[in-house]
Amino acid sequence: MSIMIPFDNTYARLPTAFFAAQSPDPVRAPRLVAFNEDLARLLAIAPGETGEMAQIFAGNQVPEGAAPLAQLYAGHQFGQYNPQLGDGRAVLLGETIGIDGQRRDIQLKGAGRTPYSRGGDGRAWLGPVLREYVVSEAMHALGIPTTRALAAVETGEPVYREGAMPGAVLTRVAASHLRVGTFQIFAARGDRANLKRLTEYAIARHYPEAEGPMGLLAAVRDAQARTIARWMGVGFIHGVMNTDNSSISGETIDYGPCAFMDAYHPDTVFSSIDRMGRYAYSNQPDIAVWNLAQLATSLIQQVEDREAAVEEATEIVHAMPGLIRAHWLATFGAKIGLREAQEADAGLISELLQIMADNQADFTNTFRALSGDAARDQFTDPTAFDGWASPWRSRLQAEADPVAVMNAANPVLIARNHRIEQMIQAAVAGDYGMFDRINRALSHPYDDQPDSADLMRPPKPDEVVPATFCG
Ligand code: AMP
Ligand code: MG
Ligand code: MG
Repeated sequence: MSIMIPFDNTYARLPTAFFAAQSPDPVRAPRLVAFNEDLARLLAIAPGETGEMAQIFAGNQVPEGAAPLAQLYAGHQFGQYNPQLGDGRAVLLGETIGIDGQRRDIQLKGAGRTPYSRGGDGRAWLGPVLREYVVSEAMHALGIPTTRALAAVETGEPVYREGAMPGAVLTRVAASHLRVGTFQIFAARGDRANLKRLTEYAIARHYPEAEGPMGLLAAVRDAQARTIARWMGVGFIHGVMNTDNSSISGETIDYGPCAFMDAYHPDTVFSSIDRMGRYAYSNQPDIAVWNLAQLATSLIQQVEDREAAVEEATEIVHAMPGLIRAHWLATFGAKIGLREAQEADAGLISELLQIMADNQADFTNTFRALSGDAARDQFTDPTAFDGWASPWRSRLQAEADPVAVMNAANPVLIARNHRIEQMIQAAVAGDYGMFDRINRALSHPYDDQPDSADLMRPPKPDEVVPATFCG
């Protein structure tokens, strides 16, 4: 049986200024190491036999109906504008419409050089490919908007990073790959016609009810505000919130040096390239607003009545911190058992976070333990928790079923960084047992999992991963 991907492409029909036609670059000895059957079903893809799927998802064979291309975009990287980025190592095969009626991109990441590769080799190594596979699927299972992983292939070729590493290709699925940076490139070039075309395309694809550029801006703001608050709620640190990694759909995109926190601290940074802590955990809401301001600046370039548009855009952007804050309050309220947290509850949440930071409390395990009786054991000084818990318990008197609220908001399992690193090392040595096991456990993160105690445990001192590299 041959694989069948029901392509229905729209991006390839946009003006040629949007992309470069680009076939994936074949690799020597592709081997399929992961295939996401549940996602394939959602995408209405009929799987084929393993050898053929390895050829397809390595880019050695372009599937029927695909129109491969590299997308063009620009972006602010760590606050510096780069006028041309684009897919330097990714190729969009095309789009499919799933059994849920949703249109999604199917992209090969690590598929070889493109006209936008600049100095890069166009490739990815196995570590970041498996990291993105596991973490994006874990985020999906947590209920957080995200791109997903359909397949991973080892290429049988080395990629040179800190030495020779096994090469790999990830098949990424996204609501689209439109980014803030896609708008920035046309705005910066003063190409109003294509900026307008892009705006119409984004509205039709993601927010059909939105009216005009400012309607789109508000819709992106709402989607992003929700996603960022949800990141905060699971201790997720994206690591590279550049405007080219900021999606128009509101999905979490581009898993590079990302990680979930173990012990809670608001200043936590994992990325080896984020030396200033620009993308630290607690900065993420502010950065999301900064990124939206860049989108606003770009969208305005197509509006005739500039003065009125600037005023409207300013209002839209200025409302974002309040929106993130409202989602944050709802998210963290649920984490402490409140079905509908009010502003008056914010102090209780902040105080808990403060004593967690002071006592190196594990973010995930502390919140999950709130519904039991062992939360105090997560604190170096358990009496700090007791002091907080007494007013909290009084507040819970007013709640109907706080335990159910907490257990639906506090996962048992997150993709702990040290486990990901151990999983990568095992896979590099040819053992995918841990990859399979972690994926399975993370697919139902809110259920108690007695068999996964080792995956719930924070790292021992010698297991701590100080920095995460990009790939
Ligand atoms: P990122 O930091 O992953 O968002 O990537 C920023 C830009 O660098 C994007 O344009 C990527 O396509 C490009 N890039 C990253 N890694 C490579 C690589 N190995 N080869 C070519 N381009 C790359
Ligand atoms: Mg990127
Ligand atoms: Mg990346």
